[in-house]
Amino acid sequence: MTGDSDRTPSDRVDVCIIGAGPAGALVADRLAARRHEVVILEAGPRFDRADRIERMERSIRPSHDLPSVWDMGGERDAYTSTGEWFYPLNNSRVKGVGGTTLSWQGMVMRLHEVDFEMRSEWGVAADWPIDYEDIRPYYGSAESALGVAGASDNPFAPPRESPHPMPPFPPSHSDARFAEACERLGVATHSVPNARNSAPFDGDSKCVGFGTCKPVCPTDAKYDATRTIEKATDAGVRVIDRVPVQRLEHDRSGQVIDAAVYVTPDGETHRQTARQFVLAAGGIETPRLLLLSESETYPDGLANSSGLVGRYFMEHLFAGTGGIVDWRTRQNHVGFLTSETHQFYDDPAAGTERGIPPADAQTAAFTPIKLEFFNYAGPSPVGLALDSDIWGDELLESLRDAYGNSIAMGGLVGQRPRKDNFVGLDSSKTDDHGNPVPRVHWRVDDVTKRSIRRANEIQETILTELGAELTWQVGPEETGPAFHHMGTTRMGTDPAESVVNPRMRTHDLDNLWIAGSSVFVTSGAMNPTLTIAALALKLADHVDESL
Ligand SMILES: Cc1cc2nc3c(=O)[nH]c(=O)nc-3n(C[C@H](O)[C@H](O)[C@H](O)COP(=O)(O)OP(=O)(O)OC[C@H]3O[C@@H](n4cnc5c(N)ncnc54)[C@H](O)[C@@H]3O)c2cc1C
Ligand code: SF4
Repeated sequence: MTGDSDRTPSDRVDVCIIGAGPAGALVADRLAARRHEVVILEAGPRFDRADRIERMERSIRPSHDLPSVWDMGGERDAYTSTGEWFYPLNNSRVKGVGGTTLSWQGMVMRLHEVDFEMRSEWGVAADWPIDYEDIRPYYGSAESALGVAGASDNPFAPPRESPHPMPPFPPSHSDARFAEACERLGVATHSVPNARNSAPFDGDSKCVGFGTCKPVCPTDAKYDATRTIEKATDAGVRVIDRVPVQRLEHDRSGQVIDAAVYVTPDGETHRQTARQFVLAAGGIETPRLLLLSESETYPDGLANSSGLVGRYFMEHLFAGTGGIVDWRTRQNHVGFLTSETHQFYDDPAAGTERGIPPADAQTAAFTPIKLEFFNYAGPSPVGLALDSDIWGDELLESLRDAYGNSIAMGGLVGQRPRKDNFVGLDSSKTDDHGNPVPRVHWRVDDVTKRSIRRANEIQETILTELGAELTWQVGPEETGPAFHHMGTTRMGTDPAESVVNPRMRTHDLDNLWIAGSSVFVTSGAMNPTLTIAALALKLADHVDESL
């Protein structure tokens, strides 16, 4: 997938999709299979597959700046971060054919039923206008499309209809030690569904364990959306790369989008017309493009009659605890996660009879918590040696002492939708085309902080049961985002309270649809992409019906 191509627009097509990440790719693939004519406009380049080894090498050099592994940064990707917390936006996205899945980790879980019903079940936040049963068949199709290795061994997972396409990865050595400690404490552990090949899949190789999955898998073992793009292209989809869409233009009635206006690398401006438009530009650029597309009819931006475009920005927060043990971990380093527990997801306050103390507060005082067992080998011996000022046998001895005895847990904590967390435009700074940059305004509220603390408490109990001396913790004050943008064009039935309807069509415009996590109403604490994929397949069905 390399080389320049003709970047002039196609004659009016059935569907124009903006963004070639997993959301855009899956919508395109499904619509092409139904024989619709589809064009994707993608801001970033088609990366050459042959460069992946070189990108992997770059990513493991300590001096390297992470975003630049996938060419992020500079004027094109300028942004501002305001609010209580700095948001490192360019660490959290990739622009190019494949989108952010080029650098993602690949953990793919379904949301739990409670995530769709937070208002009804916990009396907080809001309910989605669809429930788990509405999305359930699409989750199965999404697991097939992404090639998920997993097992039906999770007693807390929502009901499923069929096995995963591939068997799960075997548990790592440290998983087994965690499982023993958890068993003693009454905590169930189970496998992690991974969008990476535990066996050859769809013509792509089996995972060979490089461990550099995030930010580069040099083989094709980890799913990324170029896989779907290739299928879609074979089915007739046209992908135009390096053409950032600048504006969406509507007709005189203000009811219908006429064209997506884009710019080519040599500075030409074109208009792609279509019957339907699907905006799949990720959780930040989707609201930004709507806001940039202001007009006389819509001075506050497109699809924004509710004033909510960009509002309710949500993230998942990281909670972690680690320590050292006085036994050899015989760590077999695996670059991804193989075990976790959802035991405290639906009821974070609950304890266990055998050792996890219940929380002081009720479940509704928390957000969902997902706990992960890290395959963590401790600090790198090379890093330790470089930072050390001792030499020879003394250094060797100290490295022996510091290696093979580290252990750690991580976890994701959800965040409630809050109107005052938002993505807006910052006119004080412009991108390479003179557009105001995205401004991320974000705060971690007290409920989220309390939930992080609760996650830490459970992690401490499990690690102590393993005999660990706790040496570090990422708690409410040190936490950071998991790079899951959500909520900025939320779904709902009331046009005054939401941007898209339950079919993911904007309330304001008859032919504008939104694919991606920006339509999420609540965040849950599951990595979002399987839900993004399932919703994309659902959206494709609705677009198909409208054509
Ligand atoms: C380090 C890291 C690890 C992650 N790990 C996981 C994980 O384990 N599990 C999980 O579920 N999720 C994970 N994620 C999140 C996951 O990558 C995203 O949820 C997912 O890629 C979002 O898909 P998308 O198609 O909505 O957006 P994206 O993948 O971001 O794609 C959007 C595309 O739109 C393009 N675009 C933007 N603006 C325009 C424009 N104006 N014109 C044309 N094109 C435009 C962009 O260039 C981009 O290619 C991770 C993310 C990061 C950064
Ligand atoms: S561990 Fe597997 S998925 Fe990760 S980089 Fe290596 S081959 Fe790719």
